[in-house]
Amino acid sequence: MAGTAAVGAQTAAPFLPPLDRVLPPAAEAVYRAVAPRVDTRDAMDIVTTIAPHWRLAGNPAFDRSLELVEARLRAAGIATHYDTITSASQGWEMRDAVLRLDGPAGETVLSMAQDRVPLAINSFPTPPGGLTARLVDVGPGTTAAHYEGRDVTGAVVLADGAIGPVWNQAVKARGAAGVISTQIAGYTQPATTPDVLQWGAIPYAAERPTFGFKATPRAARRLRERLAAGAVTVHVTADTIFHRRPVRTLVAEFPGTRLPDERVVLVAHVQEPGANDNASGTGTLLATALALQAAFADGTLPRPARTLTLLWGDEIRASDAWIAADAARLSRVVAMMSLDMTGEDTTQTGGTFLIEKAPDPTAIWARPTDPHSEWGASEVDRALLTGTFLNDLHLAVALRRARDTGWVVRTNPYEGGSDHTSFIKAGVPALLNWHFTDRYYHTNLDTIEKVSPATIGHVATIVATTAGFLAAAGAPDIAPLRALLATARDARLASERALDAPPEILEAWTRWYAEAIASAARLAAAP
Ligand SMILES: [Zn+2]
Repeated sequence: MAGTAAVGAQTAAPFLPPLDRVLPPAAEAVYRAVAPRVDTRDAMDIVTTIAPHWRLAGNPAFDRSLELVEARLRAAGIATHYDTITSASQGWEMRDAVLRLDGPAGETVLSMAQDRVPLAINSFPTPPGGLTARLVDVGPGTTAAHYEGRDVTGAVVLADGAIGPVWNQAVKARGAAGVISTQIAGYTQPATTPDVLQWGAIPYAAERPTFGFKATPRAARRLRERLAAGAVTVHVTADTIFHRRPVRTLVAEFPGTRLPDERVVLVAHVQEPGANDNASGTGTLLATALALQAAFADGTLPRPARTLTLLWGDEIRASDAWIAADAARLSRVVAMMSLDMTGEDTTQTGGTFLIEKAPDPTAIWARPTDPHSEWGASEVDRALLTGTFLNDLHLAVALRRARDTGWVVRTNPYEGGSDHTSFIKAGVPALLNWHFTDRYYHTNLDTIEKVSPATIGHVATIVATTAGFLAAAGAPDIAPLRALLATARDARLASERALDAPPEILEAWTRWYAEAIASAARLAAAP
């Protein structure tokens, strides 16, 4: 997920009609077939192995992660291949990074060994022996005004603003040697988590080989403590490499039997340094594939009528490349789901499992029953507001799982920021399986002990169920699916009337559900 922040206030009970009670019989059958076959051991092996590494498209950790997943898929008899995509990623890898006070033997303030991911993506290596420079505190550091009367040429600049704008002001505009940003989101609870930092990136600039650090609250306090006592020198060692390998997407397919050109697409991004974001999604998609394969292999489920396509790759870029590669193929995609942050142990991370819905009226009008996540609302183009069967079908399946296990399921309005965005913009019904607010989101503390195998099991079960149902569905499934949608529509309109919603919103829902109910015809077996 990429980052923004705005808070959605919950002022009414979440809109969660008991749709699990009207699940189409064929979906119930798929659920019963896959639920006992979801085995999270392979997924947890993958998550445990790749979580400690900073995977970036085109770097060794990224490629190794794809190869590990591929090996498990092939061992289960699932066909795989790689697509190679164009990507701006430089295949950056951090090998070591240390920021010290005073000199090469001084006190360590930030380091890879201590803080895991303190160095900003695209930082260049320092000269042999490292670099010593003045430390200059510029406050926010994001505008010219913050530099008035300050000479930062050749210095290391300490700032509170976002690292990109600070780098542009301090390095690009004023010739600083590097930057340190203390910026961090409030939901990471920095006041009580002194060793947390949110990793970041500086612009790739070969003509200006510099570096950036993200600071923990403890490091920021220590640097400012020293500055309060007088001039400060810091010593920086950054050992990095740009591998610039071709960027690959791992593709696994269950070829459709009757409608091979029609597809259901599932995507998990692999890049980023987090255990939950997104080693967990990488593993959950594997567990989904293995559970479906097990049910197909022992005949509990017939081979799918439509093709199931699973992608592991570079977030957004892998999806955009797959979409752009074949317009005819795209036009026959029935639905897509993204798996991004699907393993949270919410007793540690906070937050809940969320289905981020394909755009519906809650993406345009704030509804107290459907609050946005703390990740934040974005401006949604009304043209994207097309009724679909997908949101309520997947919610019904998730509530079915919650009924069996007590699992907590919520939804949030469309916000964007993961692979579902690419498909929605391309006109494909798509949604996101994720968790928020995860207090460790994009931090150095998003580590393996925050991952719950049980959560991975829940998400793999519901994704396998919805995808398995859609890949097999035909004309007989349209009526029960429409009945589910009609139940959801009636519950929604009743909820809105209870909220005294204005006519505009009631009309929007009525239109949206008319489209959603009509869209179920998409599942009729086209020749
Ligand atoms: Zn992510």
